[in-house]
Amino acid sequence: MNEQLKYLIQLQALEDRKKALLKEKEEIPKLKIRKEREFQEFEAQYVMKKAELENLQKHHKDLEKEIAELEQKLSRCIQKEREVKTNEEYRALLKEQEYLKVEIVEKEDKVLECMERVEILSKEVKRLGKEVEERRSRLKQELTELDEATLSIDAKVEAVEKAQKEIKEKLDPQVRRRCESLMARQGGIAVAPVEKGICKVCHVSLPPQQFIELQKDTMVMNCPHCHRFIYWPGHEVYIEAAKEIIQETLVVQ
Ligand SMILES: [Zn+2]
Repeated sequence: MNEQLKYLIQLQALEDRKKALLKEKEEIPKLKIRKEREFQEFEAQYVMKKAELENLQKHHKDLEKEIAELEQKLSRCIQKEREVKTNEEYRALLKEQEYLKVEIVEKEDKVLECMERVEILSKEVKRLGKEVEERRSRLKQELTELDEATLSIDAKVEAVEKAQKEIKEKLDPQVRRRCESLMARQGGIAVAPVEKGICKVCHVSLPPQQFIELQKDTMVMNCPHCHRFIYWPGHEVYIEAAKEIIQETLVVQ
C-alpha cells in the first residue's frame, strides 16, 4: 500500500461525505417550510369550518329573533279580533293570522335544520381544533429536531474538515498542492477509482501498461485524461482505509 495514495483516498472519502452532509443541510430549510405549510393548510381548514359554524349559530339566533317577532305580531293580531267591526275585517285578520302561523312553522323548521347542522359542525370543529393543537405541537417538535439536525451536521462538517486538515499535513507538499488544485478545479473530485482500465470519473481508458502498473501499486499515478489521482479498488486496503477514516471522524460525533 502506498501511504500517500491512502491519504489521498481518505481525503476524497471525507470530501464526498462533506458534500453529502452539506446537501442534507441544504434540504432542511425546505423541509421546514414544507412542514409549516402543511400545518397552515390544515389550520386554514379549521378556521374555515369554525367560521361556518359561527355563521350558522348567528343564523340560528336571527331565526329565533324573527320567530319571536312573528309571534308578537300574531298575538297582536289575535288581540285585534275584539276590535273588528265588519266580517271583511275579521276575514282579513284571520288570513293574516294564518299567514303568520305558516311563517312561524316554516322558520321553526329552519331552526331545527339549523340546530342539526350546528350539532354536526360543532363536533367537527371540536375534532379539528384538537387535531390542530396536536399538529401544532408535533410541528414544533419536528422543527426543533430539524434545527438540532442542522447543528449536528455543522459539527460533523467541522470534524470532517479537521480530519482533512490533519491528513493534508501528512501529504508530500507536491502531492498536496496538486490535490488541492484538482479539488478546486475538478468539481471537488481529486481522486478517481479505475476499474477494468477505465477512469470512473472521466470514463476514459488508461493505456493498458499504465493499468498494469496501477494494479502493481508501486507509485502514485494520475489519469492521463482528467489528471486526477487514480487507484484500483481491487486493492481493498484502500477501500478499508477510506471506511476507517469516515468511522473515526464521524462515529465520535
Ligand atoms: Zn480520469
